[in-house]
Amino acid sequence: MTYDTVITNSHVFSSRGMVDQNIIIDDGKIVGFTNDVPASDNIIDGHGLVSIPGPIDTHVHYGVYSPINRAAKTESHAAAIGGVTTMMRMLRLGGSFTRSLQSQLDAASKNHYVDYAIHASIFTQQQISEMNFCVSKGVRSFKIYMNLGGEVGHVYMDMPPDSSALVAAQVDVTDEIVEQTVKAAAELDCPVLVHAEDYESCGCGIKTAKEKHQDGLSAWSSSRSPEFEAKAIKTVSKFGRDYDCVIYFVHIGSERALRQIEEEKKLGTKIFVETCPHYLTLSYEKQSGYLAKVMPPIRTENDRKAVWNALSQNLIDTIGTDHVANQLKLKLGGDDVWGALAGFPGIGTAVPILLNDGVNQNRITLNQFIRFTSENAARIFGMYPQKGALEKNSDADITMIDLKKEKTVSSDLFGGFSDYIVYEGRNLKGWPVKTIVRGELVAENFEVVGKLGHGKLVERKNSMF
Ligand SMILES: [Zn+2]
Repeated sequence: MTYDTVITNSHVFSSRGMVDQNIIIDDGKIVGFTNDVPASDNIIDGHGLVSIPGPIDTHVHYGVYSPINRAAKTESHAAAIGGVTTMMRMLRLGGSFTRSLQSQLDAASKNHYVDYAIHASIFTQQQISEMNFCVSKGVRSFKIYMNLGGEVGHVYMDMPPDSSALVAAQVDVTDEIVEQTVKAAAELDCPVLVHAEDYESCGCGIKTAKEKHQDGLSAWSSSRSPEFEAKAIKTVSKFGRDYDCVIYFVHIGSERALRQIEEEKKLGTKIFVETCPHYLTLSYEKQSGYLAKVMPPIRTENDRKAVWNALSQNLIDTIGTDHVANQLKLKLGGDDVWGALAGFPGIGTAVPILLNDGVNQNRITLNQFIRFTSENAARIFGMYPQKGALEKNSDADITMIDLKKEKTVSSDLFGGFSDYIVYEGRNLKGWPVKTIVRGELVAENFEVVGKLGHGKLVERKNSMF
């Protein structure tokens, strides 16, 4: 028989280690590994490259500042160039899921270059009562924003498809909403993703800092102290234990938060931890301007080192980018740090940053890199071994990396919606050069060559941990 594709000459790296074999692909799946070259329609030459399981970005905001039918196109373009084969959307809707989820799913289904999955944010009692509806539509994880409420309850929801008007909203994610969400998720056997910052404390912190006329990223950090993260971590971890629910902490970037999480794990809460590339690379001590404003804030050099340390000891499970597809004119709307928009793009730079700062500088091994960028996420979110593995019958989601390739980061490299990037001008060594999603080459040498609409919603099962 003739297979669809054979990848030759690459080093194949998966959790079972490194093998120098050819990968046979048919019908979007890996069908085997061989030492010969069987007949095939396509050959992808991987000489000098390492084939790894396609990275999964667990944390992506798109559809907020442009509608999903456009955002999926631009941001999955950036994902493909950055070597990401599955992007997980943080869906934020204000009203009823039964009314607005289907149109989001339909608009997304035709506009991705890479595969995607969805976490649904929960803000109201009505949405809690519709979590089972979300599960019936393939949305099997839920996000709560403990940072949103009271004086800091303002948020932009995702736009309806085809719209272009921002959807401003005011929400109150009270402890009651948090507890009820955790309870409902436990009954549905779904993990809850938690933005852990106590909104009341943050509201006070911001008010005080503004009264003192403080400015800059250091003021932003001190107004949202790591203590406020620890407080929220404590609250939700208790609910996690009470209802036996898996808690997944998104974007952990401070030593204090990491320490609190270890304490809660000892008390018996089932916890997974995500960090973001910016907590590994940036601190307010070294970063000027407002571009790197984000929630939770980038912290000190000491915190940055603590996050690397936790990662190297496998106390962190996943890397999500917290990518926000926004633009400069929105980002720098005010005259000071308080007026700037939080969040920045990062889906294209996650893989090269981890290769440059992590693998190539011996902070983490390539084996750890694979677990942090794909395998753990696939297990936690019910996609393993369809995703996150290079095994027979897995989806042929394969990213081929060149550990020696050097390139300077610029925002126009990725073709996303954003017109800036916090890493502009940074030279990185170690880049993805071929991105393959279910057997189709979607990006090669910083060009997207795939078909729009190839990306599909991943069918998920229960968590595999
Ligand atoms: Zn986020």
